[in-house]
Amino acid sequence: MTITRFAPSPTGRLHVGNIRTALHNWMLARQAGGSFILRIDDTDATRSREEYVEAIRADLSWLGLDWDREERQSARLERYEAAFEALKDAGRIYPCYESAQELEVKRKIQLGRGLPPIYDRAALKLDDQERSQKEVEGIAPHWRFMLDHKEPITWNDGIRGVQKFDPAQLSDPVIRRADGSWLYMMPSAVDDIDMGVTQVLRGEDHVSNTAVQFQIFTALFAAGFAATENAGKTVPAFAHEALLVGREGKLSKRLGSLGCDAFRDRGIEPEAIIALLARLGTSQPVEPIADRALLVANFDLATFGRAPAKFDEHDLDRLNAAIVHQLPFEAVRARLPEGMDEAGWHAIRPNLSHVGEAAEWWQLVTGPIAQPAFSEEDRAYLAEAAALLQWNGDPWSTLTGALKQSTGRKGRALFLPLRQALTGMGHGPDMGELLILIGENEAQTRLRSAAGL
Ligand code: GLU
Repeated sequence: MTITRFAPSPTGRLHVGNIRTALHNWMLARQAGGSFILRIDDTDATRSREEYVEAIRADLSWLGLDWDREERQSARLERYEAAFEALKDAGRIYPCYESAQELEVKRKIQLGRGLPPIYDRAALKLDDQERSQKEVEGIAPHWRFMLDHKEPITWNDGIRGVQKFDPAQLSDPVIRRADGSWLYMMPSAVDDIDMGVTQVLRGEDHVSNTAVQFQIFTALFAAGFAATENAGKTVPAFAHEALLVGREGKLSKRLGSLGCDAFRDRGIEPEAIIALLARLGTSQPVEPIADRALLVANFDLATFGRAPAKFDEHDLDRLNAAIVHQLPFEAVRARLPEGMDEAGWHAIRPNLSHVGEAAEWWQLVTGPIAQPAFSEEDRAYLAEAAALLQWNGDPWSTLTGALKQSTGRKGRALFLPLRQALTGMGHGPDMGELLILIGENEAQTRLRSAAGL
């Protein structure tokens, strides 16, 4: 059974980058008939806010990314405590006493010598007496996980292929702060084990975290931590996708903050966001596919490229218009102006770049409309049109056919005055459909008034 998770920290709204990660994890789970977990990474109590948790749920719901299970790290502190004890007993965790300033000085010195800023494990060299001295001084330790330097860390990444890290080139990660609170690294691995997560798909900014977590996973398994029946027994499969960048080639502040609210305000449909983000950065073409089952069926990590995926808002606008043109009446009904029925939606839909514009076009049907002033010749033409108007299955074709014969007009001269008289506009939805919606009496009235009758 495939189990994926989306693990946002509720320290802000979702933006386009994490929407994409959520979508891809959802797609993996849905494609495999598996399970998709929403995991709220709220171990950082000072920065996490309930309003963001609610906003995350609301955004995912608006996008139609349903989750099968919700978990919260703040409700799982006992498990982290247990994992911590297990790793400590196994000798994989050690206390450190350096202050942030001391660590910063070490870093600067290393960088100044052209060395990578890797933690020097000075705390490991302290003896019992030195450690108790620190405690006497009132310095509470923070805790690091001890990486095993013996073998390279390697995994076959679902997108990046074989990855290899020399653990000696990584710092032993701090997994717990001096105040007892948790950093991201260990709880995430504990959760992935407990929840039986089989596939971790996230941004490539997490690649080196994965290297570290790989060892945390194996250390936890070795310590016999994966106790429950449903728990994962092996390290999940990992895949890291290239990050999203703006058109200009870097992740702008604006792009980084673009979220569902901004999209909704701009009239972007969830399906347009899904269609774009499902394929952006892959070798599959971005197409206005409103049927997500199709996107899910074709989703394939093997099609993901290593280059950053370029997000262009203009592409989104274009895709949105094309998606709106396909939306069925039922999907938009609640957002349409009063009285607009299915036939109205079908007539007007091809002219919209977003659903909100339907009201303006619908106004052409319901009136009142503002007609332009017509030349005398056109007035005579429109009077003739009023006389020839006949209500049958296709009044527009009948009318224009009859006018063509009787006046010899064609093309623009034939159609434009009629459109202007009937709608007040020089362009717009298909007149054949529109005329039926306007109705016989109103059409007659409009033609007569334009003709000055
Ligand atoms: N809370 C982490 C983040 O938002 C989760 C990363 C992960 O998927 O493990 O970056």
